[in-house]
Amino acid sequence: MTGVSGLRFGPRWPLPNGVRLVGGESTGSFVARLAHGNGLGLAEFLGRVGQGQASADPERVERYPQFTEMYVNEAGLRHLEVLSGLSAGMLRRVLPSLAERYVLPGGGEALWQWPWEAENGFLVRRCTLCGYARRVCEPVWLMSEDNWQVCLRHLRWTDDSRSQEPSFVGLKVLPECVRAHRGRLRMVRRFGVAGGRVFADASRIVRCWWTGMPDEPLWAERAWRAGLGARTARAVPLVIYPEAVALAWSMLRFEQGGRFGSADRTRWLADTECLMAGAGLDCTVGRDELLRWLEGCGRDVPGRLRGR
Ligand SMILES: [Zn+2]
Repeated sequence: MTGVSGLRFGPRWPLPNGVRLVGGESTGSFVARLAHGNGLGLAEFLGRVGQGQASADPERVERYPQFTEMYVNEAGLRHLEVLSGLSAGMLRRVLPSLAERYVLPGGGEALWQWPWEAENGFLVRRCTLCGYARRVCEPVWLMSEDNWQVCLRHLRWTDDSRSQEPSFVGLKVLPECVRAHRGRLRMVRRFGVAGGRVFADASRIVRCWWTGMPDEPLWAERAWRAGLGARTARAVPLVIYPEAVALAWSMLRFEQGGRFGSADRTRWLADTECLMAGAGLDCTVGRDELLRWLEGCGRDVPGRLRGR
């Protein structure tokens, strides 16, 4: 007899206590909750999932869920399916790291790896109030495209910081960052991939700006309101958010306008510098970055539209 799994080796029956699925959760976070929900340590649970790497130090894995993600091969996925009592299709739809492209090679025996850097995103803590609302009381780590997340429902900012404190930033004290986040969501809804790409470009540029003047009062004051050190790396995406979104809109308007002549570029640069100066930034610091972006802009349009 091979049990409900149909596998000759490995677990045969689901663990008695299932856990609620959370969309976008990291596999490591999910299995930790499943193990703890059944009174098992992670090491004990992992012994049932298969043979893996990093299993030599499961306590470290258990203590630092924000550092690492779990990847399995097809047989490992079957074991997870059996232990959780959930279908592989359902697990794959909800847990991004189980997507086919991240499945480990190797048939036969179940395998899992637990690398110290996640391969497909950032491990970001989920808003705990959202968890409580769904009766999920254990911390949940999301596999996120950005190294931070905003919960608009509870106005909390969480990130992938390896330091535990603070575990979130309350955004009530930073209304301009909430507005920026809503603006970014609007941008992505309206312009799709182009919106995401331009925001990434704008963030990179404003981040360079920040590196040139980390003590800029505009940003230092926001970091102070957030309860973060003005020069700490984790504060950067939050404190520059309003300027990054404003710059992204300006870049999008320029791209969408489709006019890339030298006069158009000069006008855009002057307008954008004006916009950033209005926010209180020293424009000489960021000009090189803006020029570099302008240089690449409009390359894909027909020559007649390009500047000479
Ligand atoms: Zn929330």
